[in-house]
Amino acid sequence: MNPMQEKNKSIWKDVHKKLGESVVKALNAKGYKAYYFSSSEEAAKEIANMIPPGSTVGIPGTCTVREMGLIELLSDKGCTTHHHWDPNLSPEERKAKFKEELMSDYYITSTNALTIDGTFVNIDGTGNRIAGMAWGANKLIFVVGINKICPDLDSALKRVHNVATPPNVTRLGGYDVPCAKLGYCVDCNSPSRVCRATLILERAPFGRDIYVFLIGENLGY
Ligand code: SF4
Repeated sequence: MNPMQEKNKSIWKDVHKKLGESVVKALNAKGYKAYYFSSSEEAAKEIANMIPPGSTVGIPGTCTVREMGLIELLSDKGCTTHHHWDPNLSPEERKAKFKEELMSDYYITSTNALTIDGTFVNIDGTGNRIAGMAWGANKLIFVVGINKICPDLDSALKRVHNVATPPNVTRLGGYDVPCAKLGYCVDCNSPSRVCRATLILERAPFGRDIYVFLIGENLGY
């Protein structure tokens, strides 16, 4: 790393900390239990520490959680993780996995976008992930890279379509949607359109412990 790169790294670390702490304050005022971590490694250790051995943990479609190595950390401490990202599952087995994820003791997900004032914005094709965010008889944990922060609701919705979805459909492959070819959203009417259900969490829903680990790194899409 050259001196300019070193300097910029340190500046971004400082700016991300300030931004992260501002968002954490907004989230705590909206009923979440929110924390800021500079690194995903520290955050992953803290999450693994707070989940008792023997717990079941549901993990829906999220690159962030997988990038952080959380599935391995939780398995190593004796937790059972339920997740449906296995291309060998039949449609029926996949549906069964969705249910297991939702019924687990903990549900760990990221978010497509989070506004500075603490609003979560997510768009699903199937709806299983946003269902688990909206309600569950379990504890919910959001893990969020600093790249997901947006100034307001409008920019958050635009982020989901223009920033999160093109790489997501590229990862999935086989989806004949314009953003997979163009790299941006044209609000398509394709039969394969993956943007089908939107959840906007304005406050932490009643009756549930919801934790947010905001991390000063780019994670997921
Ligand atoms: S609406 Fe269509 S083009 Fe836009 S992000 Fe969703 S799938 Fe892609």
